[in-house]
Amino acid sequence: MDTIKPKESDIFLGEFKNKLLENEYFSNEIREAMVYIKPMVLVLGLLYLLFIIPDYFLISNPNTFIIILLNRILFFFLVVLLYFRLNYLNRLELLAYWVTAYKLILAVTFLFIFYQYENPTFLIQSFGVMAIITAIYMVPNRWIFKVVLSFLISGAFFFLSFAYLDNVRVNEFSASLVYILLVIALNSISSYRFNYYKRMKYLYSKELLQQSITDPLSGIFNRQKFNMELSHWIDISKKNKSPLSLVLFDIDNFKLVNDQYGHLMGDKIIVKFSDIVIQNIRKNDIFARWGGDEFVILLPNTTTKDAVELMTRIQKAINERNLISGLISCSMGIETLKPEDSIDSFLQRADEKLYEAKANGKNIIVA
Ligand code: GH3
Ligand code: MG
Repeated sequence: MDTIKPKESDIFLGEFKNKLLENEYFSNEIREAMVYIKPMVLVLGLLYLLFIIPDYFLISNPNTFIIILLNRILFFFLVVLLYFRLNYLNRLELLAYWVTAYKLILAVTFLFIFYQYENPTFLIQSFGVMAIITAIYMVPNRWIFKVVLSFLISGAFFFLSFAYLDNVRVNEFSASLVYILLVIALNSISSYRFNYYKRMKYLYSKELLQQSITDPLSGIFNRQKFNMELSHWIDISKKNKSPLSLVLFDIDNFKLVNDQYGHLMGDKIIVKFSDIVIQNIRKNDIFARWGGDEFVILLPNTTTKDAVELMTRIQKAINERNLISGLISCSMGIETLKPEDSIDSFLQRADEKLYEAKANGKNIIVA
């Protein structure tokens, strides 16, 4: 079982270095944030459309006004499309690319409209750029995309202003440059810290979750996790009428190991014992430490006959490993789910079988 140890170096440029982990985190984030992402996308699109009102008062040429109006309507239409597209986004990590594409379209339409104005006021347009940059940092996206987009938009804005506006005063131009850079820097820092803390918190909660289901000595599932899986698989098997087998097993004469070789050796045997079992079960089988030297395996879609076959193989593997000169063996009780079974009755019957195996001389399987 993998263990996660949160480290600062796991995160680079506001993301996990591990791509799989980053996708998992980002998709989780987006799934939770979707309730506010969707309305926010619509509101920002609507706001952009409403800027047609000041345009109406500022623009005297009707043709220019129509062009700008069409532009704003087109962008709003694209936003509505995105709003509905978000319902069908099955790979949530792709949202970053969608958002970035939309932000680029927004930037292009903004600059295009700016270019259409007869006498654009440089300072007022600078405020517009600041608002767009803030919006870029608000909508969830990869940190690096936010930074690059902000620089692209402000770079294009300053280039257009420098090339086409001749009424801009030098002090206004430099003040705007400084403030926009400041807006980018402050947003980038706070967004970076936010990304960092949320990812660290994610790692810690993942670690806690893993600890809560793991037996610390053997690293396999603990009893609590097993109980959850048992309840889940009983429901599934009853619903699908599929066989479900349960094996309870216990190391024979384990007290003797502890008494003769010490508890540390006993611990090592428990670890080796679980390793042998892990190597012999299938991916879907659920293996857990029930407590002490007692273990349990849940075998979905497995009949009694198949379970006996599998457990015979495991018992053989344990005997062949010759742990402590062949001192280590184990006894097993196997039961298969009956339609009228509850969790307790199912466990109870498997426990009785294990007891029978112990009573009949140990190192045997009773099914
Ligand atoms: P049986 O064949 O009937 O199972 O006899 P046994 O000697 O194995 O006795 P039993 O299963 O009743 O007792 C298990 C012993 O395992 C008791 C306890 O001291 C020991 N034990 C339980 N947990 C651990 C552990 O984590 N490490 C070690 N070293 N010993 C443990
Ligand atoms: Mg025992």
